[in-house]
Amino acid sequence: AVLTALGGKLTDIHGNTYEYHKDVEHPNLRGVLATARGMNHGLFIDAFTGKGTNKEKLLFNSCRLADSIKNYGLLQNDVIGVFSENCLEYFEPILAALYLGMSVTTFNSNYTVDELKYVANLSKPKLVFCSKDCVSTILATFSYLSTLPKVVVINSDENYKECQSLNNFVTLYIKHNFNIVTFQPVQVDVKNHVAFILYSSGTTGLPKGVMLTHFNINALLAMVINGGYSLTQETAIGLLPFYHTYGLFLVFMRIIVSSKVIVMKRFESHVYLKALQDYKISYLHVVPSLAYFLAKNELVDSYDLSSLKVVICGGAPLSKSIEETLIKRLNLEKVRQSYGMTESTLGVLSHKIDLFRYGSCGIVLPNISIKIIDLNTGDALGPNQSGELCCRGPLVMKGYINDPDNTKKVIDDEGWLHTGDVAYYDENKLFYIVDRLKELIKYKGFQVAPAELEAMLLTHPDILDAGVVGIPDEKNGELPYAFVVKSPNSNLSENEVKAFAKEKVSIHKQLRGGVQFVKEIPRNPSGKILRRILRQKIDNLKAKL
Ligand code: AMP
Repeated sequence: AVLTALGGKLTDIHGNTYEYHKDVEHPNLRGVLATARGMNHGLFIDAFTGKGTNKEKLLFNSCRLADSIKNYGLLQNDVIGVFSENCLEYFEPILAALYLGMSVTTFNSNYTVDELKYVANLSKPKLVFCSKDCVSTILATFSYLSTLPKVVVINSDENYKECQSLNNFVTLYIKHNFNIVTFQPVQVDVKNHVAFILYSSGTTGLPKGVMLTHFNINALLAMVINGGYSLTQETAIGLLPFYHTYGLFLVFMRIIVSSKVIVMKRFESHVYLKALQDYKISYLHVVPSLAYFLAKNELVDSYDLSSLKVVICGGAPLSKSIEETLIKRLNLEKVRQSYGMTESTLGVLSHKIDLFRYGSCGIVLPNISIKIIDLNTGDALGPNQSGELCCRGPLVMKGYINDPDNTKKVIDDEGWLHTGDVAYYDENKLFYIVDRLKELIKYKGFQVAPAELEAMLLTHPDILDAGVVGIPDEKNGELPYAFVVKSPNSNLSENEVKAFAKEKVSIHKQLRGGVQFVKEIPRNPSGKILRRILRQKIDNLKAKL
């Protein structure tokens, strides 16, 4: 059966209502922001420094930046990058680019030079807004990039490492007679215009650029803000990385509805818990590793977290036992799991505010259709039968950038996105994710693509072949584990392999699960790694211990 949910409209700040199955103009963000003029709303507050910025300033800065970007010479459809940890300025270039009908790409702030150069060559940004901490990495990619971007530093008052500061960029390029009152965002073809390019390895292989249109974003805002799925007016903690769909759109929604976000550039347990306590957070978005922290860490008892009512968890599976412990320990009303992927903009399954079931990811979101298909025949299955989850509707991405072949592999001719996740639904149409068919490893909710680690390992002169799988870990979800074939006379040790990975890939892709030397990597006749056999090897090893 195909399960489809209906409903959900988007009303902008002027009272205009849009239905997202029709062609809608993208809500005029500048108009939304303009209504906040004069309101001294603390929109973003830095949890570490207490510094803040409000909507009026966000409007002012983003419009001025838009004019400067235009005068610098960028054109509609050009790509602008943001390469930064979470910070107060993060959304200024994003809004500026959207006003101008450009596309925004957000890079993981932990990327190494190798990782950044790979994805930057997919999206080809002409201008990258970068934090001080990320400048050295981007400069080191320059000799490998097909399009050389100008780098502007967003969190420095002065030019930094020969890169212009945001202030200096604006001062240099803004028209002397720029008038914020008459500034107008351009109109775009919402169905086709790419608003965001985010990265995901999808169901197989290396990272790809996921193209999300304005239409995708409108549909998301409509269903989440007006569909009864989120309390976006509540103060949120901005700890989840802004470059990933989860952190990005969580905050984007807060900008639209003008609520507060407490920005955290990194996780520090005391700062996090103090922010939850002091800002009286009642509605908290987490990934499973944060849920684990809140359920198990003893520091939690030193803070008054009595304001917390609901925890929403997504990004990776959350165990029933952590769900239950969390509810008891924090005296919560509920933990609501949601499910989605970058290719589906954000969530396609969630619990309504007034509904929840342990272990379930909820029901189908408005205007989304879901079917569970038999893994062999592809036929749609009925309740309580497990198969691959497929979804269709206005949240499904436009495709992978410059990659029609991989796009065709995940979106079929009828528009169904094949997620690579195994799930079933019960008699109440509540969904449960039970397994993952695709190659993806999730460490603390971060994507780790086995193919990327395998390609990295093969660049070592002593490594002849490699296969990577994830091993389950209660605290972090999964840990990357590598099987390595070394050359016959090599003395390479497990620690040396780990140290090599440390240099080459970002922090969440480290081989924390372990390294095992083997004679060969099991492959099928067409050369595909048989990961099930590799996983069995780990199970056998564990059984022996
Ligand atoms: P990403 O594109 O980084 O958001 O990763 C999407 C993938 O994360 C999904 O395809 C699932 O494999 C996994 N995932 C996300 N949410 C959940 C959830 N609630 N339960 C189980 N797996 C999830």
